[in-house]
Amino acid sequence: MFIEPSIGRNKSPERKGQIEVICGSMFSGKTEELIRRLNRAKIARQKVEIFKPSIDKRYSDSEVVSHNENTIRSTPVDFADDILLLSGDCDVVGIDEVQFFDNEIVSVAQKLSRQGKRVILAGLDMDFEGNPFEPMPSLMAIAEYVTKVHAICMKCGDLAAFSLRLSDSKQKVMLGEKEAYEARCRKCFFEDKN
Ligand SMILES: [Zn+2]
Repeated sequence: MFIEPSIGRNKSPERKGQIEVICGSMFSGKTEELIRRLNRAKIARQKVEIFKPSIDKRYSDSEVVSHNENTIRSTPVDFADDILLLSGDCDVVGIDEVQFFDNEIVSVAQKLSRQGKRVILAGLDMDFEGNPFEPMPSLMAIAEYVTKVHAICMKCGDLAAFSLRLSDSKQKVMLGEKEAYEARCRKCFFEDKN
């Protein structure tokens, strides 16, 4: 379980800023972990803003919604740069579904952290073929803290780090409806992948 190293102490003008990444496959609880950290920051009286790419219209337009329906209000943005304009004087910036942003999100995260903000980014670290899914690998490299969360393999019950696409689509960005994917461990992923 991730424990905040500096919560409540990173007030301006002393605050240093930091970058945290929450990565993993589908069904691994990334959004739940993001919401958990943001709610704890709120308890510590930090000012929190949450963003997600507007491409993710699976549920509501104005909420980060995780699969267990634990919700938190968020602002959909078209471009990573928009986050710089909209984050204002907040202490903590949460960003969900980061894999749908382009690599501009890397410099956005750098700039926000240089302003002294705590930046928490959650997203898929591998695509449906099991390859690194930019921009997450770059963000993992520049982060102080990287947390990989795991799903459970729906075939054998081991820990799962891969998202198996059940349809034949080769589209890289295909939104994560539950019925389109299943979590797999490494062995079962490569056995079942077409
Ligand atoms: Zn398995």
